[in-house]
Amino acid sequence: MRNPVQEYLEQIVAQGGDAGGEVAPYIPELAAADPDRFALCLATVDGQVYEVGESEHRYSIQSMSKPFTYALGLHDQGIEAVARKVDVEPSGEAFNEISVSPDTGRPKNPMINAGAITASSLVAGDSGDERFARALEWYSRFAGRELELDPSIYTSELETAHRNRAIAHMLREFGILDGDPEEVLDQYIRQCSVAVDTRDLALMAATLANGGVQPRTGEQVLEPALVEHVLSVMTTCGMYDAAGDWVTAVGIPAKSGVSGGIIGVLPGQVGIAVFSPRLDPHGNSARGVALLERMSTDMELHLMHVS
Ligand code: GLU
Repeated sequence: MRNPVQEYLEQIVAQGGDAGGEVAPYIPELAAADPDRFALCLATVDGQVYEVGESEHRYSIQSMSKPFTYALGLHDQGIEAVARKVDVEPSGEAFNEISVSPDTGRPKNPMINAGAITASSLVAGDSGDERFARALEWYSRFAGRELELDPSIYTSELETAHRNRAIAHMLREFGILDGDPEEVLDQYIRQCSVAVDTRDLALMAATLANGGVQPRTGEQVLEPALVEHVLSVMTTCGMYDAAGDWVTAVGIPAKSGVSGGIIGVLPGQVGIAVFSPRLDPHGNSARGVALLERMSTDMELHLMHVS
């Protein structure tokens, strides 16, 4: 007999179809992505993975790295030290908005670029190289396999990173970054260029769902108190300026990336990852959002669901 979860996922994918949108235009390598690629994976907290589509096709992690880097900053420096540099307030603004609090210069949250660049600087290490190596090893522990950088994405993004460069220099001017902002920018862009597949992302999400324990390796990667903190920030800030719509319609902690991926976490149960490169006007995968809305309704995933 076929597994009912697998059957259900195949059914909603077949019924869903294209949801419109455009691939991210501003990083040449992303603009060249095949817009029709697709994958959906669901990983349970006991390590079972269900897959539909091209689940082993690799692409850059982009902003889906942000919750994990933030988690590493919290792990290395503690909640209070991190809070002095980056706040946890939803900004209601686009991912690349040049946005900080006027009084303290602190970025509003670690899920938009200003806060994410700050979080990268809070990873332990004496140089950008050391901090990136530590972050890469950290993401790999969540995925349960050794991840690598995609050099072509890195080069493409570095050459066109004018806006993120401006943000990094602004953060240096406000005393939020110490040292050379170019070094942190380079580290941040490398972090966005780590290659993952949709399975990896589902397992990374499932590690958060499982209280910080990787479901397959059994390793406690992140402390449970920090998992709670990271999931809270993902809930309120993870979907760019569509965070409010997301919480009402889907109602689970999530993070999207401009490569077309979205990760979602149902605490205690599953990690979900979906990949479809066409983005809606907020920069979220259009087909991914539609599928997660459908799954939330059908499977009653919404954290505030009352039966
Ligand atoms: N590397 C991208 C940027 O900083 C990440 C954006 C995203 O995925 O939201 O522009």
